[in-house]
Formats: sequence, structure tokens, C-alpha cells
Amino acid sequence: MRRWLEDLSYKMQTFMQGRYGRDELTRVLIGAAFVFLILSLFRPLGFFSYIALAILIWDLFRTFSKNHAGRQKERDAYLKIKNTVTGKFRLLKGMWRDRNTHIYVKCPNCRTMIRLAKPPKGKHIMITCPKCRNSFEKHT
Ligand SMILES: [Zn+2]
Repeated sequence: MRRWLEDLSYKMQTFMQGRYGRDELTRVLIGAAFVFLILSLFRPLGFFSYIALAILIWDLFRTFSKNHAGRQKERDAYLKIKNTVTGKFRLLKGMWRDRNTHIYVKCPNCRTMIRLAKPPKGKHIMITCPKCRNSFEKHT
């Protein structure tokens, strides 16, 4: 039995040589497929079953692919979307946390969010964007 397991392990290692393997996107795909499988329990062999199957096939294709550049491109596209979404939530969380002590102002030139200590009400303040050095006025 132990010898058989060692042989199987060796065969898997040689089979996976040069193949892409797993990354963040494959983990998300497995999770999404699992969710669609759970949803398909309500209506077996319905729409959700086919989506889950398609996601699993895509996941297997990615895992066993030898086109590393293509798979990394997909992963980068996924991470770009993920970071955009998580970045917006992180900003909202920070805005809520700092609501009594700071204000957030968007630079009209480069659209960067700038965090400033809360100025007194009814004042005009000059703000210089740290990213593009654009100066603009803000009424508080
Ligand atoms: Zn700017």
C-alpha cells in the first residue's frame, strides 16, 4: 500500500511538471463552483449545475495548463478587479472610522482621494495633491 502511494505520488509529480497548478483565481473558482453546486440542489440538472460544471472545467483547464503566461494574465486581471473592489471598501471603512477627525477630498485633476485633518467649519482651505501637485480650493 505504501509503495503504491509512493508510486502514485511520483506519477502525480511527473504529470504536474511544467503545468500551471493552483493560484488565487483557482481557489475562487472552486468556491464559486461549490456555491453553484449548493444552489443546484434546489433544482437538480438545472441552470446552476451547468454553471458549476463550466467553472470546474475552467478550473481544471487552468490547473493543468502549460501556458503560464496566459494563466498569469487571467490571474492578474482577477487581482486587478479584486483590488479595485477591496480598495473601495477599505476607503469606505477608513472614511467611516475617521468621520469625526478627518475629511476625504478627491483631487479634481487625478481623482486621488486625499485624507486631511478636519478643518473648522466655514473655512476655505487650499489643498495640494500629493500625487500630481495640483492645487485646489475647498470650502468646508
Ligand atoms: Zn491629483
